[in-house]
This record gives sequence, structure tokens and C-alpha cells, in this order.
Amino acid sequence: MSKVRCRFAPSPTGRMHVGNLRSALYEFLIAKHDNGDFIFRIEDTDRERYVEGAVEIIHNTLKATGLEYDEGPDKDKGYGPYVQSERVNAGIYMQYAKELIDKGEAYYCFCDKERLASLKSEVVEGKEITVYDKHCLGLSKEEVEAKLASGIPYVVRQNNPTEGTTTFHDELYGDISVDNSELDDMILIKSDGYPTYNFANVVDDHLMEITHVVRGNEYLSSTPKYNRLYEAFGWEIPVYVHLPLITDEDHKKLSKRSGHSSFEDIIEQGFLPEAVVNYIALLGWSPEDNREIFSLQELIESFDYRRINKSPSVFDMGKLKWMNGEYIKAMDEDKFYEMALPYMKQVLTKDFDFKKIAKMVQTRIEVFPDIMPLITFFEELPEYDIAMYTHKKMKTTAESSLEVLKDVLPMLEAQEDYSNDALYQLLLSYVAEKDVKNGYVMWPIRTAASGMQMTPAGATEIMEILGKEETIKRIKKGIELLQNA
Ligand code: GLU
Repeated sequence: MSKVRCRFAPSPTGRMHVGNLRSALYEFLIAKHDNGDFIFRIEDTDRERYVEGAVEIIHNTLKATGLEYDEGPDKDKGYGPYVQSERVNAGIYMQYAKELIDKGEAYYCFCDKERLASLKSEVVEGKEITVYDKHCLGLSKEEVEAKLASGIPYVVRQNNPTEGTTTFHDELYGDISVDNSELDDMILIKSDGYPTYNFANVVDDHLMEITHVVRGNEYLSSTPKYNRLYEAFGWEIPVYVHLPLITDEDHKKLSKRSGHSSFEDIIEQGFLPEAVVNYIALLGWSPEDNREIFSLQELIESFDYRRINKSPSVFDMGKLKWMNGEYIKAMDEDKFYEMALPYMKQVLTKDFDFKKIAKMVQTRIEVFPDIMPLITFFEELPEYDIAMYTHKKMKTTAESSLEVLKDVLPMLEAQEDYSNDALYQLLLSYVAEKDVKNGYVMWPIRTAASGMQMTPAGATEIMEILGKEETIKRIKKGIELLQNA
């Protein structure tokens, strides 16, 4: 068997759509699972859809997700160039179009806009379809040459049969047959001399010896035409894997508005690339054992494209958040600190021990922005309701809390060492003296120090971050609120 060679062939039209990233990932996994090659090719022949900077976005995405390619624009292993516009300049597509013309499988078409607009159209499944009427196929060789010589603009069209059927095989959808009468004589070379996506894609997949083609199922309806091209050339047809649509929770196509249509949108919301890759791998594919957390290396080992699911995949933001939280928990502490710092600095301007705060929140968040509401109380004591001092389980009331706060205030004023351990020992001595449960003392202190029902850490850890002066201020504030109640 020949070596597995898969390609990711994006068109640089903007951000990296989740669907495209999934195709790239599956191509990568199929290749790497079999020690094959992953090839990166840029399909930029549609100059109208070309977006400046999009190539860079694609590069950055592949880098961030760890989908390292074996061959690509900057890694030519003899199949280059890997950018289609450069291949146009090398004359590759025109050469193959001419081969088809010579074989009678393609022809020059000189029809102008007006004539094309006058062609009859038919509505098929809600879409208006115009099938070219093969007018120019009837031109004699001399007529064609005369028109070419006089510089009349032309396109090159595929010459498809009008009778019979064409059948192709897709790994997910099985055998699909279409009536040839539905196959338009699609354009292979446009009037600007550029190939269409449809033509360049087939020529390049062949020349680059691609064995598996993974892409969105919006290409399924064009695939019979691709097959006819392969057959016309006498080339081997690759394995096709057309992936089902990804929808949002409302079963609608992922749109920009949903906020998670592209990889970049998702990353900007505080997700980790590794978690996004893991999640996207499971959008339509599942391993035999329903396991969910996979590193890229583990995905390579487990991935089997025969287990891809045909039904539409729903992008479940809640699930991705959960998964991201698992990745954050497992992160190296220093790396987490580094990534969390900008978020902490958005809400904390004072000179805090950010490393300690990072440690407090690492296990409590799903995405990075979750950090902010958890820690803003360090910056400034929020206004809070003294009902918070009453806690059934801790057996605390407003009165008991007032007593505790008044008792510990002088102790905290006398205390010099504000490390967590020292503060904890100090308060334990008070707990022992009063012969109460820890919570009876810690609850009111934590409430006074934070003004929050829930905090990412206990009373003494919070006091350590706040420092002596701020702690005393907050305890006094608590006493004042309770006394005035
Ligand atoms: N350039 C096409 C796209 O970005 C590639 C589709 C394919 O993989 O064949 O949609």
C-alpha cells in the first residue's frame, strides 16, 4: 500500500472556521495514525474571496493547535509549490486543462455574460440551477482557433456526459449515484486564467499523491464531477470522507454571532488550544470506550475515521467549558500563572501576591475570564448583606459573629506574621480556647475579609493576600456593620 498522504487545503478567506479546523485535525490524525504525511496547501485561486492576513491566521492556528505539517509552502519536499497562485504561474493547471481538451473531456467556451444569463434555469431543492447548454462544444477547431487568436475571452469547461449516471463512494455516506444530466459542465479555467477551486483541487490532490480527502459535506454534490475528472485523466481516486455539518445548540449553522464559529473567536474567550483540539476531535468522532480527554498524541493513537458519525454534530459550549476546566486543572502551575496574570491584572491594580492568587483559582475555573469575578473582592471590599454572617451549618449568627470579630481584632492587631500558617495557628488557639468548631470562627472572619458568600480560599489565605492593614480595616468594618444592625 502506498504511504498515507493527507492534506489540509484551506482557502484564505478569514478566520479559521471550526469546521475547517476539524477537517485539518482529522486529516492530520489519519496521516499520523499511519505514519503518513500531513501536507498543507493554500488554495488561493479565488481572488475575490481572498482576505489579506488570512494565510497568517491559518499558519498561527496550525501552530497553536500543534498540527505540524510535513510539507507546505515553507517545507517543499518535491511536490511544491504548495500555494496555488504560484502553481498558476508555473502553468500547471493550463497544461492539464489542455490535456483534457485534447482528450475531448473539456472545451473552450466563449459565451458572454448575456448569453449565459439567457440560459434556462431550473429550481432543484430550492436552489436555482443553470446547466450550461454545451453551446461552445459545437464550435469547430478552426472557429475555436480563430476566436483564441482574436483574443476573445474564454473559459475552459469540463465536458460531462448528459446520459447515464455517475457513482462515487464516500467512507461515511457510502455509494452515491447521480444522474449525469444534473452534472453541469463546470468551469475549470476562468476567464482570468486562474483555475477554479474544483479543478485546481483535483489536479493538486493527484500531483501531491493525496490518499485521503476530508472536507465538509457541502462538497458532496460536486464530488461526482471530481470523479469524472479523475477518470478523464486516468488517475486514482482518493478515499473521500465528507464530514457532517456542525451546528450550534439550536441546530443552526455555526455563525459569527454565536461567538464560536472560528478558532480565534474561541481562544479570545479564554479557552486553551489543547482543550479546543480535544473537543473538536470529538465533534463527530468517538472512540470505542467513550473516553473524553485526549492529548493530541493520544488522539493520533486512537483515531479511526471509520468511527466518524454521519449525524450533524452539535457544538456544545457547556461541554467545551467543562473540558477546558479539566485542562486548566491539569496545567503546570507556572504556565497557568503566566496565562492568568493578564486576567488578574484586569481587576487587581494593587501589589498583590499574584502567584498565590493564581494557585487559589486554578482548580475553580473553566475559562480564564472566570478568574475575574472570583477575585475582585481583593481589590475592594464589596458591599455585602450582614445576613451572610448567619450560617446554619457553621452554627453562626449575627451575634456570635460580632463576638468573634471583636475577640480576634486585638489578636490580629498584635500579630506581625501574616502568613497563612501563622494566622491559622493564631485562630486555632482561639478556637481551642472557646471550645467551638473551626467554622464558628472562620466563617465570620472570612465573611468580613471578603464580603463574599463564596471565595476561592479560606479566611487565613485571604488575609495573607490582603495583608495586615487591609485585614484589620475589613474586620473593623464587619464589627461596625454588625453593631449598627
Ligand atoms: N479550499 C477548500 C476550502 O477551504 C478545500 C476543500 C477541500 O478540502 O477539498 O473549503
